[in-house]
Amino acid sequence: MPVYQIGKVVLERLPYRSDLIEAITNLASDEGIKVGIISVIGAVTKVKIGYYDQATKQYSEKEREEPMEICSCLGNISMKEGKILVHAHIALADKEGRVIGGHLYEGATIFAAECLIQELQGENLERFPDEETGLFLWPRS
Ligand code: ZN
Repeated sequence: MPVYQIGKVVLERLPYRSDLIEAITNLASDEGIKVGIISVIGAVTKVKIGYYDQATKQYSEKEREEPMEICSCLGNISMKEGKILVHAHIALADKEGRVIGGHLYEGATIFAAECLIQELQGENLERFPDEETGLFLWPRS
């Protein structure tokens, strides 16, 4: 099991109208962070989320275009095919306080986003195709 040391902690306001996943990925890349934990709160004007059907092993996607609060966006940073991959899940609330959530895809437009990245120092963590789930996952120890 890989063991990591806590590295630097970066707090940054992500750019207005930028793509949420892309902005986190750019920040991690600019800071040279290859393994880490992320957390974001703020608001978006548009989002694209996914739900993974465990039986069919297919993602279904949902897009919503309306002002929504990011109640919670948590995830991690590791590598896939040699590139930084931000994997994040998001919970969003609409005007009525109704919450939707799921796997966060590119396609979410930031209204405001406060992002925290905590770097984990140690060996690179790479994702590989996993037969049981059909997902790209970290190797088992
Ligand atoms: Zn996911």
